[in-house]
Parts: sequence; structure tokens; C-alpha cells
Amino acid sequence: MARAFNFSAGPSALPEAVLKQAQSEFLDWQGSGMSVMEMSHRGKEFMSIAESFQTDLIELLAIPDNYKVLFLQGGATGQFSFIPQNILNGKTKACYVQTGAWSKKAIQIGKKHCDVVLSASSENSKFTDIPAVNDWTLDSEAAYLHYTSNETIHGVEFQEIPDTQGIPLVCDMSSNILSRNIDVSRFGIIYAGTQKNMGPSGVTVVIVRDDLLGDVCPSLPDVFNYAKQAASDSMLNTPASYNWYLVGLVMKWLKAQGGLEAIELQNIAQANKLYQAIDDSDLYSNPVNKAYRSRMNIPFVLKDASLDKAFLAQAQTHQLIGLKGHRSVGGMRASIYNAMTDSGIDALIDFMADFEKTA
Ligand SMILES: *Cc1c(COP(=O)(O)O)cnc(C)c1O
Repeated sequence: MARAFNFSAGPSALPEAVLKQAQSEFLDWQGSGMSVMEMSHRGKEFMSIAESFQTDLIELLAIPDNYKVLFLQGGATGQFSFIPQNILNGKTKACYVQTGAWSKKAIQIGKKHCDVVLSASSENSKFTDIPAVNDWTLDSEAAYLHYTSNETIHGVEFQEIPDTQGIPLVCDMSSNILSRNIDVSRFGIIYAGTQKNMGPSGVTVVIVRDDLLGDVCPSLPDVFNYAKQAASDSMLNTPASYNWYLVGLVMKWLKAQGGLEAIELQNIAQANKLYQAIDDSDLYSNPVNKAYRSRMNIPFVLKDASLDKAFLAQAQTHQLIGLKGHRSVGGMRASIYNAMTDSGIDALIDFMADFEKTA
């Protein structure tokens, strides 16, 4: 079978050039006589891989000097579970913004560690909107404010970084990191699992401002202690070394595409094209407020849900896979991260139009 157009939400499609490079280096990485996955993580070969991974990420996101970049395990779920213990720093309150399934999960876990101030929620609109920042409840005693910049399941994305009036901003950026230019200096912590827009699963990137590293809850395990991981270059224990290498290849690929400015233009063009096709049709619709529609995850429903099965089955015969929506939302979802090609978008739109004619 030829490679399909993969619209999965995560793990998700990788650039073919990256897969090919990994394949060509699989048995013998650059004359080292071994695969990257066989190397000591303390050896000089792997050290050079780790260093260029980190340098490339810092360059792509223009991360300022007063931030540490960590590569951890445990996924985004691991981070929203351990962030409170890392940065509550004696405080008892934290603000959370609820705009979809992922921020909701972070809140449930946050409640185990502190008093959660629900700064805003769009649950009443079934997570199809983002409440205006002016109306948020900002508690100046909160240790941080947590939000999710792109809700992977509901397809809702912040188009601007919210102003929290000095409260450190903590962002789950799992599904839109590296999809657009951002000003990292506005954040206290950015974290993201790699399996959406950065590579395969298995690494979690944490970007944390120096002044937030400090007194942690004593029961916090060392491997999730940001200060300790920062002090040991994220190698307190054995890292997911092969995954670091693969994510590093994706960073090099992204630079070769022209970096974030270029990829952002591609993402805007692809998302606009697909939303236009949905809005122009009588069969498909997307419920999200147009101002906050995600460029990365595009959910849509068919007018008649009894057609869902046929849609998915026929899509598969056209090499279009991973389109089933999350079970909590239903319908379809096209995840179109950086690695999605223009021909993938065109193939999906053509198929949707043909299906509509026969439906
Ligand atoms: C996928 C996802 C998660 C969960 O990631 P895990 O690696 O499975 O823990 C959390 N937040 C967002 C926004 C996601 O897209």
C-alpha cells in the first residue's frame, strides 16, 4: 500500500523526508557503527544529537536565555499532573481556563493539589468558543494561570496570548506548538507532548522560565522536578533517546521549510481551504466560533450522522485515514499538523465534494 494521507490527531503524520532519513540511518548512524537506539545516552555521539535538538528548538521558537528547555517523559498528562507541585511555591491557589476536553482534564488534576479558580469556561457553549479575556476572573494570589492554546478534540484555538496581568502563564501547547510564531517571553511554562506536531510520542518538551524553578513540594518525584532535570540536562535518568533523535530530525526539517514563519503560512492556507469547503457545503458543518477555529484540528459533522460510517469507509478507500472524530464529540476530525501536505488537503476536499454529490 502506498503511504496514505493521515489525518490522525496523535500520534500523527510525520514528514516523509524525516522517515526516510531515519530509515537510511537506522543501522549505522553517520559512521558510528550503530543505530541511535543502541547508543549510550552519555556517549559523545548521542550528546551531539541531543545538543543540536535543543539548539534547533531554541532557534525555531527564539527561546530567550532565561528559560530552560527540558525533554521529559510522561506526556502532557504527566506535566499537567506535576506542574502544581513544581510551581505552587507555597501558594494555595491557581487559575485555570476551561475551553475543552484537555483543559478540563488539567483542572481535574489541578484540584488535587490546590484551590482551582475557574477563570473562564466555555462549557455552556459545548466548547465551541473562547470567553473574552476581559471577562476572566484573575486572582492575584494565584501561583499561575493554566490554559490550553489549542483544544485538540474540540478544534478551538487561541489566536492571541492572553494577558494575565502578571500571573505566570502556563500553557499546554501540545497540539499547536511550532505551528506559528509565538513570543515565548510571555509565558512562565510551555509544555507539549511531541506526538502531535513535533514527532513520534515519547518526549515531552517543557520550556520553563528560570524564576519559576525553586521550592518544590517535597513529595514530588525527582524525574518530574523541573529544577533537578534542568540541572542534569534532562538526563536524571535514561531519556527516550531514539525519540529525541526523531524529534531532532523534525526540527531540522522545519528549519529547512523556512522555520515557523513559512510553516505558519502553509498552515493558514491549508486550514482556510478546508474550512471554506466545509462552510460552502450543505452536508458538512463546523460548530466553532470562526474567530477561534483551530488551524490544526478541524472537526466537522455530517448533516445526517447515519452517513458517518459510509463516509469513513469510502474515505479509507481513497487513502484518507484517521478522520473519525473523538468519541466525545462525534462526527469527523481532520488533524492537519505541520507535516500535512497540500495534496493531502486537496485529496480530502475532493473526496468530500464527491461524497456530498452521492449522499
Ligand atoms: C494529546 C494531548 C494531551 C495528552 O497528551 P499525552 O501525551 O497523551 O499525555 C494533552 N493536551 C493536549 C492539548 C493534547 O492534544
